[in-house]
Amino acid sequence: MEYRKLGNSGLKVSALSFGSWVTFSNQVDAKLAQQMFGICLDHGVNFFDNAETYAHGQSEIVMGEALNSLSHPRDSYCVSSKVFFGAEKNPLPTQMGLSKKHITEACDQAMKRLKVDYLDLFFCHRADPDTPIGETVWAMHNLATQGKIIYWGTSEWEESQIREAYEFAEKYNLTPPTMEQPQYNLLYTNRLEKDYLPIFNDYKMGTTIWSPLAAGLLSGKYIEGVPADSRANLPGYEWLRKIMIETDNSKDRMQKIVDLKVIADELGVSLAKMSIAWCLLNENVSTVILGASKISQLEDNLGSMEVLKLLTPEIEKRIRAIIE
Ligand code: NDP
Repeated sequence: MEYRKLGNSGLKVSALSFGSWVTFSNQVDAKLAQQMFGICLDHGVNFFDNAETYAHGQSEIVMGEALNSLSHPRDSYCVSSKVFFGAEKNPLPTQMGLSKKHITEACDQAMKRLKVDYLDLFFCHRADPDTPIGETVWAMHNLATQGKIIYWGTSEWEESQIREAYEFAEKYNLTPPTMEQPQYNLLYTNRLEKDYLPIFNDYKMGTTIWSPLAAGLLSGKYIEGVPADSRANLPGYEWLRKIMIETDNSKDRMQKIVDLKVIADELGVSLAKMSIAWCLLNENVSTVILGASKISQLEDNLGSMEVLKLLTPEIEKRIRAIIE
């Protein structure tokens, strides 16, 4: 495993990490999660990602049970949560957003579900138009000084909003954000590669990137249609299926996937491995958060570290020609 500095901090995160959105509690129970964490830890993965909203808190409960039963030393890995959407199915106004109240309570609730005494990484899952950014920075700073969180960051914030948070923290000598969690994959590049460049330059912000396989599309398994046991077929995720395969540009995207698979086949590796390894070519990516509903997928994806060396400048150029 390779370890990368999380932005300007001293924390070294594994280049591949593991997340639980959609999967934990829906497709992966505590027993399977325990096996998956065992495999991850054996491969040197040291960061596990979660959020209050994933399966309405159940995902954190599954992760807490599984990590606890492995009895790995708490200082050998990092755990995250995210605050914004709330953990309740129909959250009340005080149970969501980025107010000082909800951030403070969400942190306590996540620690309880995850069975930990502190969160290593705590993210603002989206920007909150109803809360002044200064209030959010203060709330995160307070949690950091109380030892409840170690690093805090944002997820899918605009560059200008992240900059405002940095500037507010600087002005009042508060704990600044360390990382952002944006989507980044072969089908979605603009935010990380273009929008955030000024903020990488000015603040050396770290990133924990999500959906490296575009929710599974970049495994290539949707080329012949939607597999019965895939994410796009899960009850309750019809909205995601629409985004994945029923948008106006779905045909173009599927053609890109077909073309990318030709390169992966030539290299003799799975398209999933090539797609994940490609994310790691970007130096502003601190860690790629993997998702998996099965052990076979997790093992395939963890093997992507070995594919990095196959992505020569010539191959990179061919990949760019397809995705741009
Ligand atoms: P991916 O894009 O990698 O999708 C993972 C899914 O793709 C798996 O659950 C599985 O779904 C399928 N898959 C994975 N590997 C393979 C393979 N080798 N062959 C075939 N199918 C495969 O990542 P996620 O979308 O799961 O995102 C990763 C993590 O990022 C999340 O767990 C979460 O922690 C974080 N995240 C953060 C967000 C944010 O807003 N901050 C938003 C979304 C995710 P299946 O078997 O069901 O088809």
